[in-house]
Amino acid sequence: MIKENILRVQERIAAVCARIKADPQKITVVCVTKGRSIEQILEAANLGFRYLGENRVQEAREKYKQVPGAEWQMVGHLQLNKVKEALKIFSLIHSVDSIALAQEINKQAAKINKIQDILIEVKTSSEVTKFGLRPGVFLDASKEILSLDNLRVKGLMTIAPAVDNAEEARQYFAKLKALRDTLNPSWLLSMGMTDDFEVAIEEGADIIRLGRAIFG
Ligand SMILES: *Cc1c(COP(=O)(O)O)cnc(C)c1O
Repeated sequence: MIKENILRVQERIAAVCARIKADPQKITVVCVTKGRSIEQILEAANLGFRYLGENRVQEAREKYKQVPGAEWQMVGHLQLNKVKEALKIFSLIHSVDSIALAQEINKQAAKINKIQDILIEVKTSSEVTKFGLRPGVFLDASKEILSLDNLRVKGLMTIAPAVDNAEEARQYFAKLKALRDTLNPSWLLSMGMTDDFEVAIEEGADIIRLGRAIFG
């Protein structure tokens, strides 16, 4: 089943890329494994996924050593008291959503001589439950974050609110791209999940994060 799902995802990515004349090889898929068994994760990894995403440190800690060759990425909200542990597991943290979190990552990374790759999470919608920097504070906050020596900012991330029609998510992806273009056009955009990844790719996503599309 996972195999068919992956083929279907690849076809869909290829179709969007053909439409917008983009190179499908340049889209990175992070396979989001939260709530999946180690057997399912190994199956996906064996079918070619190198980047695995988790949204809880605790869950990642139990799994990460069991998948040879995988690179783990943190996609969920990271609590300050979990940072130290997270730095041992994740090659990329997508969800840096406050200056305080960036400072704590910087501090803990310095202690272990790590330069931690991160994305800054932007709250592109007004949904109350979502984490991320509001666009209004984003410019000042990102300056602050960019000044931290043990962080390497690779780009921006957003989570669009759940909508009935993927088209409605387009505005949030466009907003993230506009912010990126003003700040640093070479930054990557992590946006798009199972229900909206095609629209995200149309709006310039470099990294999409897929769970249900792969595991069902
Ligand atoms: C769960 C999750 C995903 C994957 O969601 P699907 O809709 O299953 O593709 C992507 N990003 C984040 C931050 C998540 O928590």
